[in-house]
Amino acid sequence: MAENTPDPYVDLYARRTAGMSASEVRALFAVASRPEVISLAGGMPFVQALPREHILEVVTKVITERGDLALQYGGGVGHLGLRERLADLLNGEGIAADPGSIVITMGGQQALDIIGRIFIDPGDQIAVEAPSYVGALSAFSAYEPEFLQVPLDDEGMIVDELEAHLRGGVRPAFVYTVPNFHNPAGVTMSLARREQLVAVCRDAGIPIIEDDPYRALRFDGDPIPALRTLDPANVIYLSSLSKVFAAGIRIGYVTAEPSVLQRFLPAKEAADLCPSNLSQLIAEEYLSDERWEANLQTLIDIYRERRDACLAALAEHFPTDATWTHPSGGFYVWATLPDVFDTARMLPTAVERRVAYVPGTAFYPDGSGANRLRLAYCYPDAADVAEGVRRLSGLLNDEESARAAATVPGAVPGRAAGS
Ligand code: PMP
Repeated sequence: MAENTPDPYVDLYARRTAGMSASEVRALFAVASRPEVISLAGGMPFVQALPREHILEVVTKVITERGDLALQYGGGVGHLGLRERLADLLNGEGIAADPGSIVITMGGQQALDIIGRIFIDPGDQIAVEAPSYVGALSAFSAYEPEFLQVPLDDEGMIVDELEAHLRGGVRPAFVYTVPNFHNPAGVTMSLARREQLVAVCRDAGIPIIEDDPYRALRFDGDPIPALRTLDPANVIYLSSLSKVFAAGIRIGYVTAEPSVLQRFLPAKEAADLCPSNLSQLIAEEYLSDERWEANLQTLIDIYRERRDACLAALAEHFPTDATWTHPSGGFYVWATLPDVFDTARMLPTAVERRVAYVPGTAFYPDGSGANRLRLAYCYPDAADVAEGVRRLSGLLNDEESARAAATVPGAVPGRAAGS
């Protein structure tokens, strides 16, 4: 598509499209996918580890034995057989669900869009963690909310901060959180914070949107009860098969109280009529065969090894005045540099040095976070993750030296990387 052709419809588009620009993450995929660049940018699941023969078997079975169903429209709520499997999965994780309380969506992403559609009127406030999953921010932005940023720390959302806002009279339409292995922050909400959050939201009558696609990818420590387990009446729970099976089949799901689903379902049907039967039957078949659990364990072991490589390389090479999170699962490490760094400005130089990451500003509605960055260790192998961190550390150390030289009176500053 030619970028600079004048757009004849420029005055005709809806106002809400003004804030819609290509996400920083998407723009990055183009450069970061060059083979010489080690990409710690996109959170791409390592699908190469999925056994192709097993999946081929599943797909063949679906087409030969249930082709008429697989190739047809289905019900808007989703295929019953898959909802049964997902209910088993959720119940196994301590999240009470029956097939009737589950709606299938096209990835967790569609669920976020529909949540925005049914809860947000233009100008409504919604509370999100700062930082927050960039895809949720773009999905919600289409409905023109005002974002109330609630900071997080190593224990997840700082609920005291949310409470302070509520005491000040703010009443968000919902609170959105990623409690496990946060994207981008890598942290997991502690049980104490979870209990505090459900109590605060219950008292204020504010629903919680619990977005939990990484839950099963735990490397160490014990699982912590879901917010939905702590307060089913007030928590809308979203997850997906993208990280535990395949992102390409685009299966997400929601479990919530019937009153919420009564609003959610018609809004979703208006968008998609029904989820793909082909994808749903493949997912149902895959989850019905116990080999899938061994496949999941393989993924967990691979991601753990990459997480370890990332943390070891950070400890060895990163500047001593930087800090970073220590995820016990999921895909991401979140690093904080001294205030003088600007990770968006540095990115082109990082790519020249053959490493990519996502600048922190992508994850804050107000564009703050300039000195932060997200490192995704999920896709490159452990050696490449370590090498990527080493390359990035080289750039940060050069930037620091250049700055130090520039502040020494009479010194000739070295070339500032990225300038
Ligand atoms: N929520 C979070 C926190 C995510 O990280 C992602 C994917 N990166 C999604 C939702 C959406 O994923 P999908 O649509 O593939 O299920």
